[in-house]
Amino acid sequence: MDELQMRPMPTDPVCGMSVNPEIASAQGLTSEHEGVTYYFCGRGCKLDFEEDPGKYFAADYVPSM
Ligand SMILES: [Zn+2]
Repeated sequence: MDELQMRPMPTDPVCGMSVNPEIASAQGLTSEHEGVTYYFCGRGCKLDFEEDPGKYFAADYVPSM
């Protein structure tokens, strides 16, 4: 069994990519919002999220690269 496949990967709320939380944490690509930690694939997504987090929780928001 592949242990990596068993663990659910968090999703970057901006682009929808699966993110390895250990790598994201090591690179500082995390952001806390209302007590929940979000992980990002890169600095661009993190900055976009922090600029306007509410946008990414809107029901009509579709994550895209
Ligand atoms: Zn991203």
